[in-house]
Amino acid sequence: MFFDEDMQWLVRGLERDYKSVRSFMEIFIHVYQYIFSNTSFPVLEKAIEVGSAFEGWSPRKEDVTYRLILPLKPPRGHIFHLEPGPVWPMRNFRIRVELVCTCEMEQPAGETRCFLHDPEQEHGRNAAFSILDDLCTASYLDAQKTARYFQMFLRRSWRAMHLSAIRRLTVLPSDRSCKFCVTNRRGKRIFIELMFGVQEGDSDIFVSSQHTEAAYTPNTMWPETYAVAEMKFFRYIARKAHPDTSYLRCLQLCVRCLLGRDFSTYTLKTVMMHVLTALPLSTWHRRYFWEWLSTILHYLQRCLHEKRLNHFFIGNENVPEEIILPQELRTAEPFNLFQHLTQNPYASAHAKLEFEELRKRVHRMLLDGH
Ligand SMILES: [Zn+2]
Repeated sequence: MFFDEDMQWLVRGLERDYKSVRSFMEIFIHVYQYIFSNTSFPVLEKAIEVGSAFEGWSPRKEDVTYRLILPLKPPRGHIFHLEPGPVWPMRNFRIRVELVCTCEMEQPAGETRCFLHDPEQEHGRNAAFSILDDLCTASYLDAQKTARYFQMFLRRSWRAMHLSAIRRLTVLPSDRSCKFCVTNRRGKRIFIELMFGVQEGDSDIFVSSQHTEAAYTPNTMWPETYAVAEMKFFRYIARKAHPDTSYLRCLQLCVRCLLGRDFSTYTLKTVMMHVLTALPLSTWHRRYFWEWLSTILHYLQRCLHEKRLNHFFIGNENVPEEIILPQELRTAEPFNLFQHLTQNPYASAHAKLEFEELRKRVHRMLLDGH
């Protein structure tokens, strides 16, 4: 009963916030398109809702961050070329921005030739906003410049969006994304993070402006992100498991118990995705909540013992067909997220201690409710 109430409270809160985030994003993209439609700035597609808050589970009760990927498309007369970069430890890309000839295509009124064959055209019409001049470093899309530009655009357009009278905007420091907090009249805060992404072909995999796990991420390096594929995976499961959502409760309970520990929520999310595809969904039912919770903890324990937890989207034949992956990811060798445990006995021993603590907390939470 305790957990049911807790979950319902969370879901109601999230749904209320979804509406605000969605209506805000619609206005944001509308204003952007109005201002930049006739320029050489990237074209924005509809923002994609990703991450735990949109998937229906959240490690926190308060100050939930709503994350969205803002897909960038090249402006007219330009193309994006993804160049594979070093793998550390995940795949990274650089995005080269090139001008292409569009002379053969229909030109807008007043123009006869493309930017490439008539540079004057570009300078005459679009001098104020040019992706190559403003958002690139040596023809490569620069994540930091892009983030800075969007932060500035957000601040300046806030008034134009007619929101300044009802809500207060605070842009938060972030060098590769656009992070901000919107406070309404009653003092309620919503945290939003916009990451920029470029789609890999027509797949559900993007390269994004988020940080890599390396200590330093060059400005022109864009790590591969699986966030859109994960969101699609959770929607797929929700459709199949409907109306039961006890799997979300399991995940919710476990990650809540992780707070303040060294285990990452991503580890648990990965375990959860493996368990959800390995066992029939029809057996998910609130009646078997204990059993499912035990299955998840056992799975994690076995991974720690074997020092192997495979990345869910790399070389995994159990990924549902509905999720579109680039061919090279489907056929790749599985990638071990616990690789570091094989090289560092201290890390391995520490992870096992953390696991014991997690198990104790989960039991305590279920039995005592805190
Ligand atoms: Zn041309």
